[in-house]
Amino acid sequence: MTALLCAEGLQAFYGDAQALFGVDFELHAGELLAIIGANGAGKSTFLKCLTGLVRAPRVAIRFKGEAIGGLPPGEIVRRGLAMVPEGRRLFASLSVEENLLMGAASGRAGPWNLKRLYEMFPILAQKRREPGMALSGGQQQMVALGRALMSNPEVLLCDELSLGLAPIVIREIYAAMPRITSEGMTVVIVEQDVGMAQQVSQRVYCLQEGRVSLTGRSRDLTREQISQAYFGLETHAEAAP
Ligand code: ATP
Repeated sequence: MTALLCAEGLQAFYGDAQALFGVDFELHAGELLAIIGANGAGKSTFLKCLTGLVRAPRVAIRFKGEAIGGLPPGEIVRRGLAMVPEGRRLFASLSVEENLLMGAASGRAGPWNLKRLYEMFPILAQKRREPGMALSGGQQQMVALGRALMSNPEVLLCDELSLGLAPIVIREIYAAMPRITSEGMTVVIVEQDVGMAQQVSQRVYCLQEGRVSLTGRSRDLTREQISQAYFGLETHAEAAP
């Protein structure tokens, strides 16, 4: 099967500091894929490379067969990749609805519009005139997710949707995923909560210190495999006397 989006030997740097060391990655149309890994493993950096926020060599990333590494972020959104950034990043002084409409600026056609979003998250319809910052963390996350959906992407990249949210709110947000994928959207989630990642995704990539340490079908991976790939326990075990 040809990948919709792929990375090959992707390296990324912040100045002299290297954050990714040759990441190979494939995403297929219609998948919900999870990227897991400890703090600093390179998950956000990887998503930022895909969306043009961190520099990447042109040919290291391909979307629908075209090399897109290092293209300007706006151009990448127009081609159909959108990100829900870590920490939501709403425009504080704009209303909920104005924040959502910012997502439509790419001008892409598709199933997602204000009406659809308000059906999925009715609380946002109630709060549509309130400033983004007047919302709870969970409601802000719904706006951030909605804003990305408003650009009608082919691939939705979500960076730590659950960060700082209560378990009940996390479940509410993830409950929207089947609806999103049923519209034909391909989704990548970066998730610290490994249980949640495994539960909602079909495939998992684990990153460790800027490298892919494990990949496989979510339901096939064991706790031991994930712990080793996540924390590098294997290495420590070998190093022990
Ligand atoms: P977290 O779960 O904490 O967000 P992560 O897996 O997303 O972690 P990254 O944020 O991608 O990891 O970080 C990967 C590496 O790059 C880390 O060593 C981090 O310190 C470094 N890094 C990230 N952002 C920057 C930056 N703006 N400037 C310099 N180094 C950075």
